[in-house]
Amino acid sequence: MTNSKPDTQNPASDGKKAVVIGAGIVGVNVGLALLKKAYDVTILDRGEPGRGTSFGNAGGIAVSECAPIAMPGTLLNVPGWLMDPYGPLSIRWSYLPKMMPWLLRFIAASSKSRVEQISSELAAILNRVWEDYEPVIAEAGLNDAVFKKEGALGVYRSEKTRREAEYGIDLRRRKGIKIRDITKDEIMDLEPDLAPIFPCGVIEEDWGRVLDPFKIVTGLYKHFIERGGKFQTAEVTDFVYRDGQPRAAMTTTGDQVTFDTLVVACGAWSKTLAKRLGSPVPLDTERGYNTTVPYHDVKLSRTIISADDSIILTPMEMGIRVGGAVELGGLIAPPNYDRAKALFAKGKQVMPKLNAEGGTEWMGFRPSMPDSKPVISKSPKHRNVFFSFGHGHLGLTMGATTGRLISDLVTGSQAPIDMTPYRINRF
Ligand SMILES: Cc1cc2nc3c(=O)[nH]c(=O)nc-3n(C[C@H](O)[C@H](O)[C@H](O)COP(=O)(O)OP(=O)(O)OC[C@H]3O[C@@H](n4cnc5c(N)ncnc54)[C@H](O)[C@@H]3O)c2cc1C
Repeated sequence: MTNSKPDTQNPASDGKKAVVIGAGIVGVNVGLALLKKAYDVTILDRGEPGRGTSFGNAGGIAVSECAPIAMPGTLLNVPGWLMDPYGPLSIRWSYLPKMMPWLLRFIAASSKSRVEQISSELAAILNRVWEDYEPVIAEAGLNDAVFKKEGALGVYRSEKTRREAEYGIDLRRRKGIKIRDITKDEIMDLEPDLAPIFPCGVIEEDWGRVLDPFKIVTGLYKHFIERGGKFQTAEVTDFVYRDGQPRAAMTTTGDQVTFDTLVVACGAWSKTLAKRLGSPVPLDTERGYNTTVPYHDVKLSRTIISADDSIILTPMEMGIRVGGAVELGGLIAPPNYDRAKALFAKGKQVMPKLNAEGGTEWMGFRPSMPDSKPVISKSPKHRNVFFSFGHGHLGLTMGATTGRLISDLVTGSQAPIDMTPYRINRF
């Protein structure tokens, strides 16, 4: 480990101790951004860095995805989805009562006027993503691990389903997202191993991807340590207060880790700690599954999104990752890998040469707010506490921008966007 000096000396913060709880893509980016502001940063995690939800996601730098998950008409589709045990949405029924408050807010967020507003607020972050990520990726020496702005290919099984997607596509175009329609022949030219079943598609031009999400988190984490950041294995359960302010994190082993500034970045597990800090928040999880199979003899050059199948296929370093869908079931229930198998079966319809041999299955907990917006916020209760979680389907994408925005909040600098839409007490 080296202890190089931060490049930005900030007299107001020099030597001040910041603790970030959570070493996922969000926490590591926050840690790096605070190091640059001359904070003495320690990241705490109960496990190995990058082994949470950031480990096995679909790897999309999905800057074109400013449409929220709850869209006008989503509610009408829910009964049909739930009838199909392996459809795009499933619920663990025993969890439904606990999930109800979240679901009611999710439904409220699906009105046209809310969707218009939320998509602008998501676009405000997404439009900054490449500008914020590029230097972070370059400084960490990860340029070869990220394919930038190569575009994702959205495919439709019929002209009818393309027409049904028009509202979402038009919404995103209106927010400045570049989306170009293409024909069946163009689809087959771009990706000859796709089944010839898609009469039309779109290219989402600014989308990028990483070759392995885990390598990105661990690469950034290594860079954080090389720049003098510290890491401690610790599960935080509560806080110690002095003069009314939280001043130390209490861990399961009874240790107390002191801080001047605290950032909670525990992904889907942030709710309990936020409540302990006086900020109850309607965070829940949208569980997601995937299967990653070796290439065998199939070729794929870019991310494919099949809207009709609700699946996404990403070419990665270790193979093709096939996944998607949402399972509402909380943080405790064990994974149901039949869902990964069902998604893979749909993937085989999209790409018949996919071969499950040697594949690995994974389930992760998306940290989801009912309005699809992350929490990037000061605490309304404590001036030395900040929250950075709830990135849902877009945590990898928003990692560097979140780090930058949190560092602006911590140092009291002017953020480049209005931060009001992401405050923790917006509900
Ligand atoms: C199937 C699937 C596909 C996805 N695809 C994409 C995609 O293509 N693009 C994209 O941008 N996003 C995608 N996502 C979403 C993305 O993976 C998440 O938004 C992101 O990983 C969240 O990062 P995080 O750092 O907030 O949380 P995590 O990576 O989960 O990190 C949280 C960390 O906090 C630690 N922790 C929790 N509680 C405590 C505690 N009490 N004390 C100490 N440590 C604690 C955990 O151990 C963990 O390491 C996908 C998600 C899934 C499930």
